[in-house]
Amino acid sequence: MLYRSFPKMPDLKISTLGLGLMRLPVNPENSSIDYEKTKELVCLALEQGVNYFDTAWPYHGGTSEIVFGQIVKELGIRDKIYIADKMPIWDIDSKEKARSIFEKQLEKLQTDHVDFYLLHAMSKDHWEKVKKLDLLSLLDELKAAGKIRHLGFSFHDTPDVFEKIVDEYPAAEFCQVQYNYLDGDIQGTAKDIQYAAIRGIGTIVMEPLRGGLLAVPPKGISDIFLKAEQKFHPAEWGLSWVLQNPGVVCTLSGMSAAEQMLMNCKTASAAVPDSMSAGQLKIVESAADWFKQRIKVPCTGCRYCMPCPRKVDIPAVFAEWNRMSMTGALEDGPAVSPNYTKLKKEGHGADLCVFCHKCETVCPQKIKIPDMLAEAGKTLKTE
Ligand code: SF4
Ligand code: SF4
Repeated sequence: MLYRSFPKMPDLKISTLGLGLMRLPVNPENSSIDYEKTKELVCLALEQGVNYFDTAWPYHGGTSEIVFGQIVKELGIRDKIYIADKMPIWDIDSKEKARSIFEKQLEKLQTDHVDFYLLHAMSKDHWEKVKKLDLLSLLDELKAAGKIRHLGFSFHDTPDVFEKIVDEYPAAEFCQVQYNYLDGDIQGTAKDIQYAAIRGIGTIVMEPLRGGLLAVPPKGISDIFLKAEQKFHPAEWGLSWVLQNPGVVCTLSGMSAAEQMLMNCKTASAAVPDSMSAGQLKIVESAADWFKQRIKVPCTGCRYCMPCPRKVDIPAVFAEWNRMSMTGALEDGPAVSPNYTKLKKEGHGADLCVFCHKCETVCPQKIKIPDMLAEAGKTLKTE
């Protein structure tokens, strides 16, 4: 494993690959986290030199923090790892509520401090809320008390909002952004990382493989990578591209299987900043262009929008719509989708949406979910 440091914390050596605790192995019968498999994954991560673990209040319906806290205690590894956790701004309406959620997070994690604490999913509105509720003074207080070691924020909005937050939040020591070769430029994230780096703020990357899409891409992408002189797995191309950026300290990956972990660790162990050749960068650019021409909706499958009161399986509908488009099945217009037929039969189709807009307010990608569902419903035909 290779290690990098945040400019403001030069003594800390952070593994270039971190384990995201948002997509853990689950029990098929009830979707609860599979404790034993997760423990095996954490052990494997440790063996491979991973020392950064990222959880959050809403992950796995609030159980990610609990399960991870129990595993850390059982393995006795608290002083060997860094834990990142986040303040769920959308659930907070006062400073007192924020304090009580933070205390609850410590309790769930069975620890007396969080190493890296982020304001979760900062956007223009969330940042205004943070200031209005005076949450920064609470974070300063918790840091002074030793309950938080380092402060940062995760981000989903436009570059002008990113710059505003960096400028108005000098206590921030790191940030976390979504960055991958598909939307690195679309969302202006490369610019954000550079803006932060110039100000001494190192970046943690989330969704480096776009929720797995870039790890198991359509055939058109695999064909592009096969043309390269050196043969790498699509996931290796994706991760190497992210870690090529010198402003990136660590990239998270929501790995749920040992093979993914081993492959990602191998990539992270060889990823040196600015090490991809011009030819390799050109190949990644061709892959990004291929995707951009075909992708219907930029859903990452994060499931923040779930559950829908009408039981629409929003990420599943979008994933199928994208899959159909990327396999060329929609080139002549609407087409029959067996997967969508099944979704609809099980009562999770796009047609059930009543445009309540509840989901839209929490989508980090700012997708106009009901409109896009209506579009998907018109394009995906049932058997
Ligand atoms: S807008 Fe539609 S998909 Fe979104 S929560 Fe409401 S009913 Fe569900
Ligand atoms: S629609 Fe938005 S919130 Fe829902 S899974 Fe996709 S990216 Fe996440």
